[in-house]
Amino acid sequence: MDAARVHLYTHPACLGHVPGAAHVEVPARLEAVTGALSDAFPGLPWHSAPEATRAQLLRVHDPSLLALVLDSRFAEGDPPMHLDPDTVVGPGSAGAALRAAGAGIAAVDAVIAGGAARAFCAVRPPGHHAGHSTPMGFCLLNNVAVAAAHAVHGHGLSRVAIVDFDVHHGNGTQEILAGEPSMLYLSSHQSPLFPDTGRSDGGGNALNRLLAPGTGSSGFRQAWDEHLLPALHAWRPQLVLVSAGFDGHRLDPLADLRLDADDFAWLTTRIRAIADRHAGGRLVSTLEGGYSLPALAEAVTAHVGALA
Ligand SMILES: [Zn+2]
Repeated sequence: MDAARVHLYTHPACLGHVPGAAHVEVPARLEAVTGALSDAFPGLPWHSAPEATRAQLLRVHDPSLLALVLDSRFAEGDPPMHLDPDTVVGPGSAGAALRAAGAGIAAVDAVIAGGAARAFCAVRPPGHHAGHSTPMGFCLLNNVAVAAAHAVHGHGLSRVAIVDFDVHHGNGTQEILAGEPSMLYLSSHQSPLFPDTGRSDGGGNALNRLLAPGTGSSGFRQAWDEHLLPALHAWRPQLVLVSAGFDGHRLDPLADLRLDADDFAWLTTRIRAIADRHAGGRLVSTLEGGYSLPALAEAVTAHVGALA
């Protein structure tokens, strides 16, 4: 592999999770992302995401969650089963979830082996609301937490940071990482907003910055410049993982943070600089939210452009 470039991970099975016609977390999101990245960066290498193994998932999830997500059985034509009002499993969900989690595993392996410096995982369903034993908020498995646990328990790293700029708080990630001295969680999110967690600084190994509805670019950049990025820098991460949600974009239908694509590029450049300084450049970013297809395409192009 060419270590100088950003390596991209995806799998067609990630299109097979179909929450329903009225749902915003649709397969077309992933097609918008892969199409935009292929058009904008025709030279970047794509890799087929493997399936995560049960052992890799059990580092962060309870067996009861794996039974629900991976072992539910469906006859042909069965409708998806609701786990909560927003979150479903259907016939293609297990395959999608396994590849979404496996992408991060493969990307972590690649950046630690030195075959790639940076990677972006174009996968769905998203992950950061999935807790130890609870699927939630469109999320079945916590892709970024699985990757973090792999870096720590599979590769022996002792300082892995998860940077989450999705407009929602990654309550599942914060819950899974709580009490893990080798992991740090940093998030900015709109508040109030689903899931109404992360309403304090966080405590322990979590640092949250709350952004009021309508915050816009300057307030977003200030939160990262003055609070979250200095904390990331001071921690000297050996690997930086990113929960890359683009639902803070001003066109997104689920939130009101009013960011532009430039804001995602701005933050990505700064996260990358800290990874370059402390982590030998090792950075793995994974798609979380983003529900306006044009905004998602524009923002992910800005993000990967800043990684490249
Ligand atoms: Zn989100």
